[in-house]
Amino acid sequence: MVNNIAIEKAKTSKIHEVDFDNLSFGSVYTDHMLVCDYKNGEWEAPKIVPYQPITLDPSAKIFHYGQSIFEGMKAYKDEDGKVFLFRPLENFKRLNKSAERLAIPQLPESFFMDGLHALIQLESDWIPTNAGSSLYIRPFIFASGNGFHASPANEYKFIIACAPSGSYFSGKVKVLIEETYSRAANGGVGYAKAGGNYAGQFYPTKLAADKGYQQVIWTDDNAHEYIEEAGAMNVFVRINDTLMTAPTNDRILDGITRKSILDIAKDEGIKTEVRKISVHELVEAAKNGSLKEMFGAGTAAVVSPISGFGYHGEDYTLPELTNSYASMLKKRITDIQYNRAEDKFGWRYPVQ
Ligand SMILES: *Cc1c(COP(=O)(O)O)cnc(C)c1O
Repeated sequence: MVNNIAIEKAKTSKIHEVDFDNLSFGSVYTDHMLVCDYKNGEWEAPKIVPYQPITLDPSAKIFHYGQSIFEGMKAYKDEDGKVFLFRPLENFKRLNKSAERLAIPQLPESFFMDGLHALIQLESDWIPTNAGSSLYIRPFIFASGNGFHASPANEYKFIIACAPSGSYFSGKVKVLIEETYSRAANGGVGYAKAGGNYAGQFYPTKLAADKGYQQVIWTDDNAHEYIEEAGAMNVFVRINDTLMTAPTNDRILDGITRKSILDIAKDEGIKTEVRKISVHELVEAAKNGSLKEMFGAGTAAVVSPISGFGYHGEDYTLPELTNSYASMLKKRITDIQYNRAEDKFGWRYPVQ
């Protein structure tokens, strides 16, 4: 049931200007967006309006204190034109978890779910159908309230914008195990999808790129001893036939793809371990040939295979497998997302 969301329709559609056969990721936007304002101590009713720029005062707290959080999700269209989301309630819950940590007021569930539902319904013609493409959805909240005083804002905006996007896949990536910089620290905001977490990654990632690596493997901030995330994705490692990933903590984002992959792997009878993985263990496994695969996991790419890693000036190359866990897991998860397979876990959310 979608509660009534006020809709102000765009006068003209931009859809005919878009080349749906050559979509990049997240760079063209649909005709409408959902907007919901927090003022006078409460969230006002969300509404759908034409996609448009936002005007803010130079003293808006987002600019100075970085009170900003977001989510990333996708809408998929099956062969019959039916539209689905994937575990959207998990994104809603995580948005409020991030909000709590950034002292942003909690958003009511119906505002998120009904607003999202109404927006995706309205924009359903924008959901691309070429293989691997989808409508990328970006819900976000930021401090729109004014003041140079370093304190939480008294006004916020919750917005959902959508971008028809092609496949994120850009081939295997070579990664660098980070020994100097940290993405997140104990007691910090690493578990939240806070904008500032990503700003802090850009510089170390650029340094790695200058050395020929496309991505950074983040390690614990204490001793850089354990691997934690692959760029802005969770990280999986396969040693022999065991699939492992780090346990979530203060510093690791609790990815929906990560937990879905763990469930699917178990369903496939693959041995899984959620435990700390040391860099030492990884290097030893690479040397003795038991390290079979590494990959990142997140909504955008689903699974992003890693070709090898650099550590202490040494490069370690992973084998080319014909039956990789990465490709099997990606197929199983996308088959559920695009309604090509039975949804035994109840993850699909139809948008009618
Ligand atoms: C968003 C994100 C992930 C992946 O989360 P999903 O819910 O799978 O998209 C992993 N790590 C970081 C740092 C992220 O920002």
